[in-house]
Parts: sequence; C-alpha cells; structure tokens
Amino acid sequence: MFDTRPNREAEVVLVGRSNVGKSTLMRELTGHSKFATGGSPGVTRKPNHYDWAAEDFVITDLPGFGFMSGVPEEVREDIKRDVVQYVEEYADNILVAVLVVDGKAVVDIIDRHSGPEEIPHDVEMFGFLQELGVPTVVAVNKMDKVDDRDERLDDLAERLGLYTPWQQFDEILAPISAKRGNIEALNQAVRHHLHEQQRDDLFKFF
Ligand code: GDP
Repeated sequence: MFDTRPNREAEVVLVGRSNVGKSTLMRELTGHSKFATGGSPGVTRKPNHYDWAAEDFVITDLPGFGFMSGVPEEVREDIKRDVVQYVEEYADNILVAVLVVDGKAVVDIIDRHSGPEEIPHDVEMFGFLQELGVPTVVAVNKMDKVDDRDERLDDLAERLGLYTPWQQFDEILAPISAKRGNIEALNQAVRHHLHEQQRDDLFKFF
C-alpha cells in the first residue's frame, strides 16, 4: 500500500493505463514541471501527490496500470491492486476521479480484451469507481490524433455502458489533448462535480 499520501480532506485522483498521458495532464493541471513525462511508459510506480496544504486539498496521479513493456505481469498486477486499494481506502475523500484514456487506442484495446472471462482494465476501473460512488470523469486524451471524433466518442460511450450520442454525457466524457494544453472539457466536467459537492472554492485548480 502506498504510504505517501499527505493527510488532506479533499482529493482529486488521476487513474489510467500507462502511457495515456497522465503525467502530461498532471503537469498541465498544476502548471508544475517536477512530474516526469515521457521516457519509458509506466515509469511512475508510486503516486505523485500535488499538495495544497492551505486548501486541505491534494491532486494525486496514481501509477499507470496495464501493459508496460519490460514490466513483468505480477508487478503490473501489484500496481493495479495498489491503485484499487488506494481508491477504496480514500473513496470518501475523493471528490472526483479522472480516468484518463488514450482516445486513439482505447476502443480497440477494450474490444481486444473483451471476452467471457475478461473485462478490459478501463471498463473495469470505470465500473469500480461508479460502484464506489466516486464521481468520475473519463478524460479522453490525445484527441489531436483522432479524426472521427464523434464516432470515436460514441463508440467509447457504448463500451462504458453509457448511451449515444456521447454529448449527453459531457460531465463524464471529456475529450482533451493534454499535450496541446487543450483540457477545457475536463476542467468543466470536474467543476461540475465539485459544484455538486459545494466545493466551488476548488474551481481555481481547474
Ligand atoms: P503516462 O504514462 O500516462 O504518465 O503518460 P505520459 O504523460 O508520459 O505521456 C505518454 C506519451 O504520450 C508521451 O510521449 C506524451 O508526449 C504523449 N502524449 C500525452 N498527451 C498527449 C496528447 O494529448 N496528444 C498526443 N498526441 N500525445 C500525448
């Protein structure tokens, strides 16, 4: 279990497979550059906490799970188990969970891993967060690489058990390009969930 968490009442977490652009997004959100990006995928094995003590608030980038080249299966399983445990343990503190996916690849990856005995990581994580009652935004990243935007987002909505057209879920599905600094859809969705929890004071972070 991770023991790095600062003791803060309110939290926003980023979860997702490795290499989807979580570190890039974190840097974009925080305007901070201490978070390593690029290099070997899955380089983050421990959470990165961005801590605002004065606001009693922390944004946490949880380690990427799923396939990482050169990382043994059992290590990947350990990371995923730790992420699940973390979210379970702090579910009451987590105002919003941001599930980051690669908009270009996510539907193919989901379809490749769907079967009678297999639930794809992203679908599983989305369901898990919903079961816990944690307000969830799916940040559909790398949209700069996607041509058929609405079609792709509709496909993803269906895979997540939502309906089409995807636009009716713009509090859940947020198409972004972290690398290009285009994250307004995510900020809006996050603010929506903060507002619902009377936490407009945290809008300044999003
Ligand atoms: P992490 O493993 O999820 O933390 O992913 P990183 O933030 O390290 O990003 C993985 C790779 O995806 C890097 O090469 C990034 O430059 C790239 N990347 C991140 N966001 C975007 C994006 O919005 N568009 C594109 N085209 N590439 C991105």
